[in-house]
Amino acid sequence: MTLQSRIIHPDEDLQVAFQNPKYQPYGLKNFRQIPQINSLTDEQIFDIEVVARVLPFRTNNYVIDELIDWNNIPNDPLYILNFPQKDMLKKHHYDRIAALLKSGADEDRISLVANQIREELDPHPAGQLTKNRPSLDGNVLPGVQHKYRETLLFFPTQGQTCHAYCTFCFRWPQFTGIADYKFAMSEIEPVIKYMRKHPDVTDILFTGGDPLFMKTKILEGYINAILQADLPNLRTIRIGSKTLSYWPYRFLTDNDADALLTLFEKIVSNGIHLAIMAHFNHPRELSTPAVELAISRIRQTGAQIRAQSPVLNHINNDPDLWASMWQRQVEMGVVPYYMFVARNTGAQHYFSISLEEAWKVFRKAYQQVSGLARTVRGPVMSCNPGKVQVLGVSEIMNEKVYVLRALQHRNPKHVMKPFYAQYDPNAIWYNQLKPAFGEEKFFFE
Ligand SMILES: *Cc1c(COP(=O)(O)O)cnc(C)c1O
Ligand code: SF4
Repeated sequence: MTLQSRIIHPDEDLQVAFQNPKYQPYGLKNFRQIPQINSLTDEQIFDIEVVARVLPFRTNNYVIDELIDWNNIPNDPLYILNFPQKDMLKKHHYDRIAALLKSGADEDRISLVANQIREELDPHPAGQLTKNRPSLDGNVLPGVQHKYRETLLFFPTQGQTCHAYCTFCFRWPQFTGIADYKFAMSEIEPVIKYMRKHPDVTDILFTGGDPLFMKTKILEGYINAILQADLPNLRTIRIGSKTLSYWPYRFLTDNDADALLTLFEKIVSNGIHLAIMAHFNHPRELSTPAVELAISRIRQTGAQIRAQSPVLNHINNDPDLWASMWQRQVEMGVVPYYMFVARNTGAQHYFSISLEEAWKVFRKAYQQVSGLARTVRGPVMSCNPGKVQVLGVSEIMNEKVYVLRALQHRNPKHVMKPFYAQYDPNAIWYNQLKPAFGEEKFFFE
């Protein structure tokens, strides 16, 4: 089937069976029922209608009641984190959808145009659909990525939704309902077999979406199979999740919250390191009683929490904010891990800052914290060759350059070797960088 022939309606998965009657998700269909929406102008509401046709929109009552500051609309960073803003679409894209809505076009027609626009938003940056796809016995594993030698990414089918969606999400096509974009599998046996054949793999990283959107029972099925396989190479199970930010009650009052923590304990007692790869974009996400308690409960299981986030215009483009976020994380027993650069997909034009600016934010924040918070690395681009860190802007042999290095690379030999790109004050992503000193390519190309 071609993309254009498939009809997708937003919010199809909004009302999934959930483990907590208190959880109330909102999306395009029902966001007008949010009481605080009354404080928005008609224009702001229309903007949400337009942008949410293209970029996935989902929020929930925790974000609305405990994170967003409704006295600071439309500039509140937590509001921008979940609610679509007009400028997140380029003007010509916005205008196309707005015109259709105003003319009363039918849903199928709107979905078709929305899909065309999605195609223009670089839905799979860094060659994700074609590269990093491992195969087993000649068959591609549909829900696995293997890019860096030690770590295998696993996308369990039931974890491809989040408790709310980040407007900057680089995995946004996972939520548009377009099957071609989905990247997931529900069988763990082939993954285990693959790991057995690749003794260099020490880490399996459950990712999504958000794997902790899954019911504990389902996650437990996967985990038990992995533990029972008793793989000698497996050292770490990582779970990439934004649940601490978007629904900390997952660890407190969901029906299966206690079972989840028991599962964490079980992993740890099997001698496997359990790393929760949390995702905090703003210090306010660390400030509610619910998240404090959730972090403390997770840590009591013996799991370790690490934190990462991109640096984002309109949300956290401020060194003092980062310094206080890292400091707070250290105090809560959370290890600062990565500061990323906003990826080249979706609403990148809205969120991105230049590489030089990102480096300055990182540096100014880093200067303010003690060594305990300096476990963080950044700013880092997760791009085609690997995870490339911007070490800074410098001048070498009379040429202004970016100094870079790969913290991860497809080829481990290339890790940690500095390389240089021509200085470009406007560059926001790796693909805009050119080798310095008149070279034709970077050393690893
Ligand atoms: C970021 C990433 C990882 C994990 O990298 P670490 O540096 O070990 O945290 C693994 N695989 C892919 C494809 C990644 O982008
Ligand atoms: S939690 Fe992660 S996967 Fe989910 S919307 Fe946010 S960035 Fe995307």
